[in-house]
Amino acid sequence: MRCQACHETAVISTSNGTFCRRHFIGAFERTTLDTIETYGLVKPTETIAIANSGGKDSLSLLHVVAKYFKGSNKLVSITIDEGISGYRDKTIDTMKKYCSKYGVEYRIYSYKDFTGETMDVITHLKPGVPCATCGVLRRYLLNAAAIDCGADKIATAHNMDDEAENVLMNLLQNDFEKLLRLGPISGITSRKGFVPRVKPFMFLSEKETMLFSILNGINAEHKPCPYAGFGFRGVVSRKLKELESVSTGAKRSIIDKMLQVRASHGSGTGEPHRELFYCDICGAPTSEEVCEACNIKAQIKRLKRP
Ligand code: SF4
Ligand SMILES: [Zn+2]
Ligand SMILES: [Zn+2]
Repeated sequence: MRCQACHETAVISTSNGTFCRRHFIGAFERTTLDTIETYGLVKPTETIAIANSGGKDSLSLLHVVAKYFKGSNKLVSITIDEGISGYRDKTIDTMKKYCSKYGVEYRIYSYKDFTGETMDVITHLKPGVPCATCGVLRRYLLNAAAIDCGADKIATAHNMDDEAENVLMNLLQNDFEKLLRLGPISGITSRKGFVPRVKPFMFLSEKETMLFSILNGINAEHKPCPYAGFGFRGVVSRKLKELESVSTGAKRSIIDKMLQVRASHGSGTGEPHRELFYCDICGAPTSEEVCEACNIKAQIKRLKRP
C-alpha cells in the first residue's frame, strides 16, 4: 500500500485517502481546517471553549486548535468532571499536563458542584440508565461553563463515528428535530443563552484521530466509563462498526445523507419549531418552565432525603 501523494509506504487508508506518516498528518490537519473554513466554525477574535475529556480525540483537537488558532483566538480548555471514580479523576492530570504544554487555560466544572453529588452517587440514587442523566447534565454544564468563560463557540472532538451514531440514534428514535440539529455546527445557534457547538473533526474517523494522536506522541491513557455500553448508544455503536466492516464508507454515507436532508429543510441551523422559554430556576433556555438539569438536581435532592 503506497501513499497517494509520494508513493512512500502508507500508514493508513480511509475514505479521506491513503497516506504515509507525513502526508497523513498534513491531510488530517487540512481536513480539520477545511471543515472549520467551509462551515464558518471559528471566526477571528472569537473565544473558543475546547471541550476536553482527556481522550485521544479531545487532546488531538487541543493540539490542532492550539497550533492554528492560539495567535488569533482566545482559547479555554474545559472539562466536565462527572465524578466517576477510576475514570475521570485519572484523566484530569493528563489534561492539565497537555493544557500547560500548549499554553491553554484550563477549567474544570463538576456535577458535584452543580447537583451536590457525583455521578457515582447519582447512579445509585436515581433509577434508569446512567447515560440518560449524565448526558443531560453534561450538555447543561458544558453550555454553562462556556458562558462562564465568555466563549462564543464550544469546539468538541466529535468524529465521523460519533456523528454517524447520532444520526442513526435520532432516526431510530424518530426524532427528526434533533436530527436537523446535527452537523458541523449544532445546537440552537441564534438563541440567547446557547453557545453553539462546532465539530472540526466531523469528517475524520475514529481510526484517523487515533492514528493522529499516536503519531503526535499524544499519550492519552483513557479507560472506558464503567457505565458505558448500558445505553442505546452502545448498541448503535456496535451495529455501526459491523456495518462499516461489511460496507466501507457506510459512516461517511450516513453523514453525507444527513447533511443533504438538513440542506433540503432550509438553512440547516437546526432551529427548533417549538417555543422556547427560560428556566424559572436557573434562567437557561428550555422547552419547559424548568430545565431538565434543574429537574434532575431537584430529584437528587428528594432522593437523598431519609
Ligand atoms: S458512558 Fe454514560 S455515564 Fe459514562 S460518561 Fe458517558 S454518558 Fe456519562
Ligand atoms: Zn506521502
Ligand atoms: Zn434550570
